[in-house]
Amino acid sequence: MAEEIKNTAEEPRKLNFLEEIIEDDLKSGKVSSVLTRFPPEPNGYLHLGHAKSLCINFGLAQKYGGLTNLRYDDTNPTKEDTEYVDAIKEDIKWLGFEWAKECYASDYFDQLYEWAEDLIKRGLAYVDDQTQDQMRENRGTVDKPGTDSPWRNRSVEENLQIFRDMKAGKYADGEKVLRAKIDMASPNMMFRDPILYRIKHAHHHRTGDKWCIYPMYDFTHGQCDSIEHITHSICTLEFDVHRPLYDWFIKTLDIYPSHQYEFARLNLTYTLMSKRKLLELVQKGLVSGWDDPRMPTLCGVRRRGYTANALKMFCDKIGVTKHDQLMDIQVLEWCVRQDLNARSNRYMVVSDDPIKVTLTNWEEGKVEWFDCPLNPADPEGAKRRVPFTGELLIDRADFMEDAPKKFFRLKPEGEVRLKYTYIIKCNEVVKDENGKVVELKCTYDPSTRPGGGEWRSVKGTIHWVSTAYAKELELRLYDRLFTEADMNNIPEDKDYKDFLNPQSLVIAKGYAEPALLEDESGIAVQFERTGYFVKDKDSTLEKPVFNKTTALKDSFKID
Ligand code: ATP
Ligand code: MG
Repeated sequence: MAEEIKNTAEEPRKLNFLEEIIEDDLKSGKVSSVLTRFPPEPNGYLHLGHAKSLCINFGLAQKYGGLTNLRYDDTNPTKEDTEYVDAIKEDIKWLGFEWAKECYASDYFDQLYEWAEDLIKRGLAYVDDQTQDQMRENRGTVDKPGTDSPWRNRSVEENLQIFRDMKAGKYADGEKVLRAKIDMASPNMMFRDPILYRIKHAHHHRTGDKWCIYPMYDFTHGQCDSIEHITHSICTLEFDVHRPLYDWFIKTLDIYPSHQYEFARLNLTYTLMSKRKLLELVQKGLVSGWDDPRMPTLCGVRRRGYTANALKMFCDKIGVTKHDQLMDIQVLEWCVRQDLNARSNRYMVVSDDPIKVTLTNWEEGKVEWFDCPLNPADPEGAKRRVPFTGELLIDRADFMEDAPKKFFRLKPEGEVRLKYTYIIKCNEVVKDENGKVVELKCTYDPSTRPGGGEWRSVKGTIHWVSTAYAKELELRLYDRLFTEADMNNIPEDKDYKDFLNPQSLVIAKGYAEPALLEDESGIAVQFERTGYFVKDKDSTLEKPVFNKTTALKDSFKID
């Protein structure tokens, strides 16, 4: 079951456990200011889970007058790329966060190498020639202690010489590794002589061909935090078993005591947050790219029309916990609507397969322009001009021939108000040879013009566009990427790709009032009575393309 969320907007929020720790540390004088960091590996694009981590890291620093570093964890040259480095920066800026320093784990490769030699010299590291399989076998299990490597007792001199030869490129990938000499029987598997360095003859996106040995993540992360004097190193729960090892390195090397704190990863219904799987979707062409509007990546949701405000509101709502969460994606959609409802401009757009409405009492060739508010919350604010003529288009769903009593839109002999303008009456229904309704002959009531004459009300109001002025749009109607809510718990014999939603993209046409194409708000707009849509980068002058951000309403209630 996805978690529910209570609306706590009115009550002051209790401190979360990270805020409690920071306040204690500031009070006790353990730290004098706060420095956090966001540590992405540049091997993919950021996703909504990273947004949570960003909001926590930058949010905490902001709250306590501190700073946040951006640190790329770039220890794995074969998977990393500057394309990702640049995209990550763009996404963080889009969210509105500013990092203090831009750092790279690779900036510290020399220092890390020195520390590795230091451990060797102190008899705390050795070169192991075992194969990967042998190492795995000899590692033991949680209940069974491991077995010492036959190479564990090499002399310091021999270790130092081989390690330098490894660095000089004398060995092939996988031939040797450098391991810490800790305890092959430790109940914490992390302490069973963890690997510190491996050989990888690979070009690095920053250090080029300088190195052919690379430090392991575990030998890098804690020390990087220490080098930068990160006061609170915040990461996701799966790293809590690594923490004692980071602490061991920091203590053994006698360097600045950074400390790590873990929080629960964000999981969302109907989507996935694994970079590896998202990359596979991109590489297999199952989506159009990292920024496909169905993707949970930040560039994807941005292209979908989600706003940075909405994402921050969402992260604030879900809070920081220590137990794993599967959040309902509707909570996020709710936040998107909240933000767009307040800020977005309104336009009328009629859906694919519209019905033509002819006003039989309209003076031929006459055009009347209506000034309509861009946002109803601000009726006196900016306006758009909407042309009204004798031939209009309406949504097919807004007409019904045999309408039930409660159908308050247009029906034969019925009346409806055309939004912002007149009340019209349907006098005649014209059908084609297949019986499909193609035209409604109506009359308008001139006395019902808003602002003039007497005000008469009818139950229904529908949107419309003037045929002569309508702009044809391509609408990309997006739905959930997967059909299963909990994509982290699918049956073992299934592949996650079996659950891709075949209806996740439907392409349709739409007919818009002309002012839509002049919108310069830069955020998604509301197609009145339909939903929020955002102009896509594929748009051309001849063919404007709009992505559906989200429907207007949902049965989901947050408060
Ligand atoms: P993935 O498993 O998708 O590759 P990752 O954890 O390897 O993700 P990193 O680039 O290492 O990705 O993540 C940078 C930071 O973002 C880390 O501190 C990580 O803990 C955090 N993070 C990653 N995924 C999530 C998530 N789903 N929820 C919250 N934080 C996350
Ligand atoms: Mg990672």
